[in-house]
Amino acid sequence: MARLLFVEDDQTLGLSLRLALTAHGHDVRVAPSLTAARQVLGAGPVDLVLLDLGLPDGDGLELVTELRKRGDFTPILVLTARATLADRCEGLRHGADDYLGKPFDLPELVARIDALLRRHGWTRTPSARPLSNARIGRLTIDFGARTATCDGEPVTLSDLELRLLQHLLGHPGQVVSREALLTDVWELPPTSKTRSIDTFVYRLRRLIEPDPSRPTVLVSVRGAGWRLCPDQQ
Ligand code: CA
Repeated sequence: MARLLFVEDDQTLGLSLRLALTAHGHDVRVAPSLTAARQVLGAGPVDLVLLDLGLPDGDGLELVTELRKRGDFTPILVLTARATLADRCEGLRHGADDYLGKPFDLPELVARIDALLRRHGWTRTPSARPLSNARIGRLTIDFGARTATCDGEPVTLSDLELRLLQHLLGHPGQVVSREALLTDVWELPPTSKTRSIDTFVYRLRRLIEPDPSRPTVLVSVRGAGWRLCPDQQ
């Protein structure tokens, strides 16, 4: 699974492409601005950047220049409506690796992404380590069988709860933001106003925490999100 960052302020396109590329086996984060993109890149490396140019806080090419200047050669595929020959040349001169004009066909985009990843030495490993069993606090989960027990008693978890747990387990000890959960688990735009996450966190805490009123396993990080400390009992 390659980690892709899609820098795109068009929410509909961001979401639809994220779903499509996820279906092709990639892990896709969408950043709606240069600032958001810098945050994602600052949090850890990505395998490829898909970059729109017309962004609310600047020109996507600024990001290309920034990365290349600091010796970061993460492959960048520029995806934009500005696709005249001059634009393409300018993008490539800034250090982008490929250029695709909007509107584009999904199969072509997928093929170009795969080609770029291959060229940069990325190989598709058959879902490297599928998560099978996990223990979080009082909860033991069998992701394969989609069953769980709390203190040895069977409990039922919904698909969304399983996905939320899977996501949190994929980022142990790291702060996971509300926006990341909205896009990666709920598959909603990051600005969605739903309080659903809080309800899910409340319910999960009742299953995992030794004392749900004083969480030590799934802790809130004020103003930032939540952190899973799966080994804390
Ligand atoms: Ca745009």
